[in-house]
Amino acid sequence: MSQHTVKDILQSVSPGDQEFFPSIVKALAHALNADMVFIARIDNEENKSETLSVYSPSSDVDNFEYDLENTPCCQVASSGNLVCTYNGDVQRHFPDDEMLVDMGINSYLGTPLKNADNEVIGILVALFSGGIPDLKQSELMFNLFSGLVSRELVVVENMRQLSVANQVFSSLDEAIVIFDPDMKIRLVNRAYERISGFDHDELINKDIHSTEFLGRNKQLLYTITESMETVGSWVGEINGRRKDGVYYTVQVQITTSKNSRGYIENYIAVLSDITSKKHAEKTIHLQANYDSLTGLPNRQLFNDRLDQAIRLSKRKNKKFAVVFMDIDMFKSINDSLGHSWGDVLLAEVSFRLKRALRASDTIARFGGDEFTFIIDPIEKVADAIVVLDQIVKTMHEPFTLQSNRVFVTSSLGVALYPDDGLDREQLIAHADQAMYSAKNLGRDQYQFFTSDMHRAVEEKLAIKNALQEAIINRDVDVCFQWIKNENCPEQIKLEVLARWKHESEHISPDVFIPVAEEFNLISDLDDVILEKACFAGFQLQQLGIDNFMLCTNRSPIELAKRGNPVQRWRKIIESYGLRVEQFNIEVTENILAKDSDGHFDVLYQLADAGFSISIDDFGTGYCSLGYLNKFPIDTIKIDKSFIDELGKSDQQSAIVDAIMAMANALNKQVVAEGVECQQQYDSLKRLGCKQYQGYMFSKPLNFEQLASFLADQNRIVSVDVNR
Ligand code: GH3
Ligand code: MG
Repeated sequence: MSQHTVKDILQSVSPGDQEFFPSIVKALAHALNADMVFIARIDNEENKSETLSVYSPSSDVDNFEYDLENTPCCQVASSGNLVCTYNGDVQRHFPDDEMLVDMGINSYLGTPLKNADNEVIGILVALFSGGIPDLKQSELMFNLFSGLVSRELVVVENMRQLSVANQVFSSLDEAIVIFDPDMKIRLVNRAYERISGFDHDELINKDIHSTEFLGRNKQLLYTITESMETVGSWVGEINGRRKDGVYYTVQVQITTSKNSRGYIENYIAVLSDITSKKHAEKTIHLQANYDSLTGLPNRQLFNDRLDQAIRLSKRKNKKFAVVFMDIDMFKSINDSLGHSWGDVLLAEVSFRLKRALRASDTIARFGGDEFTFIIDPIEKVADAIVVLDQIVKTMHEPFTLQSNRVFVTSSLGVALYPDDGLDREQLIAHADQAMYSAKNLGRDQYQFFTSDMHRAVEEKLAIKNALQEAIINRDVDVCFQWIKNENCPEQIKLEVLARWKHESEHISPDVFIPVAEEFNLISDLDDVILEKACFAGFQLQQLGIDNFMLCTNRSPIELAKRGNPVQRWRKIIESYGLRVEQFNIEVTENILAKDSDGHFDVLYQLADAGFSISIDDFGTGYCSLGYLNKFPIDTIKIDKSFIDELGKSDQQSAIVDAIMAMANALNKQVVAEGVECQQQYDSLKRLGCKQYQGYMFSKPLNFEQLASFLADQNRIVSVDVNR
């Protein structure tokens, strides 16, 4: 044993010092006369060891790692408290430990280093090339020092683990805030500094209220503390406020950490920033529920609100009103000022409507130029009327669009809960019907739903069902009205008119044609009529007449449909051995009002295919005469309403005169419709009219009557239409 005593060694080292381990291994090596002394940490799971400090008096040795298996150290680690000693025979006991052989070690002294839980966490080892000089002393010294070194190793290990924890704590994406029991911030990590915009020093030791941890949710603290006290944790969302004032949303989980006596030491809040998720959710919600042009709730959200109003009113036994509003003649705004000014108008309308309604009412853009409201609650009808009057009034104020003052009106329909319907579908359908009734009554007004309207809809549906069947069974008939053509008397010109008898009652085309248009039956209906007209043409040819012109009406709605009808019609006509030149297509003038539906194309295709084209009921729509020149139109049919007034009203006569003059200038033919008496005929003749249709010349005739009529005119000899 060297001059070093335990006391000397203790004086040369100080626990907590970085040099503690190097000093102690050096001092022990000298005290024991050892060839090497080291302190190593043991990794029990991997069964490995790693030196923390090594000293050899004869050479510089770096720290090293080694496998514990088959080494005396393994024995030490598993041997409990004792110092393990191999004096001169260590290689014999561990023949597979190559390190001992390589280093020429024959004696070994080792002691385990333990933590407070009595787990072996390291070893202290001295190696000797010869025997151990003073065995008893050496063992004693090892025993004495093992406690001290163990304590230091525990500290080092704790520090190491803390530093790992600290690294994790700092580098976590989740923000962590640790509060003391008084809700003062004790610790924050970098992620929280990033989210909150405050730096570490601005947060530490601050009260939860003096930071913006809770943002707008100051009251939330009561909920949080209550939950902490009852269930020991709280999970929820907080809208915190950054230092720069911007709000953010975090998902927060707060738990407690308690000391060994069960008292709360810390509250640990883990925060995940969900601001962008919230933004995305909000955008999705807005897109799904709000109209992007006006910012109003859309149909989807309106439906939800209506369902909600029904539930609430049912429970509370209350009334409310559902209103449908449609802007009058909105298309003409789009057509005259352009679609984007139409958009501006829609936005302005929605702004005014919001102002006109009460805070408790719901307003939505249902689609297109249609707005819907829930006036809720109302006690009596008069409460709804106040709001409706307000809406009509606000709509009467002129709008300024493109520096034009534009006057806009609207039609509104009202259905009341529970009187007019108990569910959403019924209420919407009835408000819609009432709105249509307001349109039919001249627009710019509101109408309350009545049972008559309901009846009218039921009747319309009955007509639709019966008509559908009639089309399938080809039960729709045609008749023919002669058009006297003084320009070309040898040609037999006939307008083909649809006739329908349902349950032995004649239904007027004015009734069933709009129904067919509304329910998409018009194309099939017109095809049946065309086929029947073709059959009549075929029969006329059988009777020896080839110079005829059959004028058939086609609906603008049908022309607007995708899928060109021209080829289909030509096929039908040719299948009866007829030519398209023998057919004139009559369309109403509103087809020319605008081309958003591609009508113009169809008109040109019809003309190219060889059809001639007439504009029916001319003068009742929006079309100007000058406009006609743009289209491949051969004939203008002046509406009966003008002819009726001929001779009675100077103004109407002047209009007919103007139409005749313009048509002549544009080289169009003119047919006067609904001529009933000699006086009208004479006036028209004076104005230069050459073609006439009306009761004065012939009523609509079925084919049999037509054959007799033609026989009377000596056009045909035989009237046997059944041959
Ligand atoms: P009515 O008096 O019968 O209501 O006549 P209207 O011209 O207003 O016709 P209707 O209500 O049937 O048509 C509304 C039109 O609104 C049809 C469409 O061209 C137009 N529209 C639909 N959505 C928009 C939109 O977002 N912006 C614009 N500018 N126009 C739209
Ligand atoms: Mg409209």
